[in-house]
Amino acid sequence: MNELVWLLLPAAAASGWWAARRSASKAQERRARTTPAYFRGLNYLLNEEPDKAIDVFVQLLEVDSETVETHLALGSLFRRRGEVERAIRIHQNLIARPALDEEQRANALLELGMDYMRAGLYDRAENLFLELKEMNQHVRKALQNLIIIYQQERDWEACLRVSEELEPLVSESLGLARSHYYCELAEEALRRKDTEKAVRLLKKAARAEPESVRPTHLQARMAMESGECRKAIELLHAAVEQDSSYLSEVIGDLRTCHARLDDLGGLRRYLEGFLDDSADVAVVLALTDLIMEMEGEEAASAFITEQMEQHPTIRGLLRLIELNSSLPHVKAGQILVGLKDHMERLLAERPAYQCTKCGYSANTMHWQCPSCRSWSTIRRKNEPDEKCR
Ligand SMILES: [Zn+2]
Repeated sequence: MNELVWLLLPAAAASGWWAARRSASKAQERRARTTPAYFRGLNYLLNEEPDKAIDVFVQLLEVDSETVETHLALGSLFRRRGEVERAIRIHQNLIARPALDEEQRANALLELGMDYMRAGLYDRAENLFLELKEMNQHVRKALQNLIIIYQQERDWEACLRVSEELEPLVSESLGLARSHYYCELAEEALRRKDTEKAVRLLKKAARAEPESVRPTHLQARMAMESGECRKAIELLHAAVEQDSSYLSEVIGDLRTCHARLDDLGGLRRYLEGFLDDSADVAVVLALTDLIMEMEGEEAASAFITEQMEQHPTIRGLLRLIELNSSLPHVKAGQILVGLKDHMERLLAERPAYQCTKCGYSANTMHWQCPSCRSWSTIRRKNEPDEKCR
């Protein structure tokens, strides 16, 4: 509550000072009458009765539009404190005043729009931000909020439209976001079986941000769908070249393609190329499965045991236990099964994905961080979190 008092004290003091200095005209007489009301409002604030205080201040506004700035500040303060309904009441009342000049009205519209955003009333917020854009006031903030709204509503066409208007007004490139909007549209087209449109959209996505792995992976999926396994493998390799941390996300599709081509050996050679430098646990596990299929359990067990001696990971150890407990060493097997349960629980408690920008943890892959709304920042957590030592 202290914050509120400090905010309003200067306004009340100024109001009293003016009233004392100028008392000739009718307008000034009105102002003089407002001063006690201001102090009554302050009194409510001091007594922790903000609702009554707001009523007083809102009534004051009807007679004195010079307190607009104070009301704007009061409203945004309420919003920042999470009291959105109060902020909305204050800003709605401000906008209803015909005496506001254009700049004051624009400021009040922006604040009310932010209140609606905070309250999750996106359609109301959208109308206000569109109005601001029409008025040519606070255009950058209006467009930035419109994008948040359209992303929420998954209206990707609108996101593309707004991002084009916004890009010249901001310092950073919006290419990555635009690439994802095209990918979202391409996925919608694919769900409708409109492959031609999907191809066009994915080309645009790749042009918007050449480093983005998502269009490349989607193109690979399309190639798989149409039975072009070699082309799909090339595209999946290209995605890994764009971003090597994405390898674990394409292993499943690579496996499908290589299996269809009856060339698991090819996948094994490709994955072995990644063993030395990064020792991604997903690579180790995929190789273990491949070796088991090609050479049997003993060979797979020997491979993962050697790997775990070099780079122990929880997932890797779990697989090692699984393999060894199915081999005929009964007593050791029983112990290992108990250990396995324990480690499974340990692993389930750890989120596998994390946003590299804000640290948000997730159990599944998201293209857009649900917390900070950044695109392509969610990555699989691997080393060193998952290492045992
Ligand atoms: Zn984030």
